[in-house]
Amino acid sequence: MERASALRAYADETAGCTRCPLAEGRTQVVFGVGNPDADLMFVGEAPGFHEDQQGIPFVGQAGKLLDRLLGGIGLQRSDIYIANVLMCRPPQNRDPQPDEISACEPHLFRKIELIQPKLVATLGNFATKLLSGKPLGITRVHGQEQPVTLGTSRVVLYPLYHPAAALYTPSMLKVLEEDFARIPELITRADTAVPVAIAPGQAETVELPVREPEPVQLGLF
Ligand code: URA
Repeated sequence: MERASALRAYADETAGCTRCPLAEGRTQVVFGVGNPDADLMFVGEAPGFHEDQQGIPFVGQAGKLLDRLLGGIGLQRSDIYIANVLMCRPPQNRDPQPDEISACEPHLFRKIELIQPKLVATLGNFATKLLSGKPLGITRVHGQEQPVTLGTSRVVLYPLYHPAAALYTPSMLKVLEEDFARIPELITRADTAVPVAIAPGQAETVELPVREPEPVQLGLF
């Protein structure tokens, strides 16, 4: 209950955030939703049109696929927490810019500290590069779990393809399903992992975001 109220207080505090220019074009801040006591937290990229309208992450087509993938491992949204690298919608759903990522990063780290998940599944390149602190793209690192310290939280990071990319690429969907299937086992194992430290702000030194030649990741939501 304490976590829930701390998260609610932080959501109230950030509802009027003006740390970056995206504040001017948003309908509302999309803080994140789900179970404040979740063992599993997903981190996507940024709100799209529907998320900006409804104030909830992953409510479009990619969100429907995410729900289906969760169902496949016996979970539903109320079991997990979902947030994004950015809390505000970039215009025309363009890629997050480095200054926007840096501005929003403390909010994401704070959420992770409050929720204390065991497993943080990053969806796509932006979340993966930010939270791994490494410039390696999702094609190289998907499905490879790694223990990290995010702020003061010890978690296992688990990079996954972004569901929006998998929507249109059957081969990628198959890989995403296979990677998803390992989540229950990883949550169980996460308690014993030894972390590598990633401090808030460190991401700024790894040339974020680094674009990969992956057209499937572009403009899909
Ligand atoms: N919706 C979100 O909330 N985040 C994404 O990364 C994509 C769609």
